Amino acid sequence: MRNNKPNITVRDLSYSYTNEETGEKVHVLKDVSFEIYPGEFVSLVGPSGCGKSTLLKLIAGLITVKHGDIELDRSKISFVFQDFALLPWLTVKENIEFGLKMRNVPLRERERIAMEKIAEVGLSGSAHKHPAELSGGMKQRVGIARAIAMSPDILLMDEPFSSLDMLTAEKLRGELMDIWLKYKMTIVMVTHLIEEAVELSDRVLVFHPRPTSVKKSFDISIPRPRDTRSKEYFDLCDQIEGNIE
Ligand code: ADP
Repeated sequence: MRNNKPNITVRDLSYSYTNEETGEKVHVLKDVSFEIYPGEFVSLVGPSGCGKSTLLKLIAGLITVKHGDIELDRSKISFVFQDFALLPWLTVKENIEFGLKMRNVPLRERERIAMEKIAEVGLSGSAHKHPAELSGGMKQRVGIARAIAMSPDILLMDEPFSSLDMLTAEKLRGELMDIWLKYKMTIVMVTHLIEEAVELSDRVLVFHPRPTSVKKSFDISIPRPRDTRSKEYFDLCDQIEGNIE
């Protein structure tokens, strides 16, 4: 995997927000640098408020880089949001088709892709339902189906399971793993759960508190499917936990 060229390069990235009332600057990221390789699953962990979501938004191009730079092909990115971000007036199928429509994919083709992805995330009976009729787990399945419908090379996920109950989150983690093993896109996931990062990732990047930089990178070489009750798994979680300030 890392024999290839990286498909995301973050170089000396710094970012600050300006408080609109006081004009004061809040320095969030400082000199952040790392590389991510095609097909890698990388999790970003660190203390709450350290700037993980900001970093993901900068990678996605949702906010603009001012200092440093990020190299990647933004035409091949999809995003999965913590709060699903579905369009409430559209059905499941229409939500999944939405991005394809924006890309001018012909009707028949986008219907075919939408139905294929709906089946893949186990929502075949719900294609014509609206988001309000779905459970949280089902909504995030739509969020994932919508993202993979775009055939992304890079899937960015911001706390994708944090709004779900424990059992549903566990199930969706398994489903995400199946999708990743099938498509082998690069995944960059922000999470506050070290256990989740160790269960899913090839690599975990631990961030310092603000102003944030990369503190340490952990390779997770536990074979898949991972036994989340093994000593090896717990030891790694403890080791990473010990590095979070
Ligand atoms: P994390 O994802 O690690 O919890 P965030 O990237 O969400 O952290 O936020 C990092 C810091 O930047 C926090 O202190 C947060 O309050 C601040 N912040 C986030 N978004 C904005 C914004 N739009 N305007 C001002 N400050 C912000």
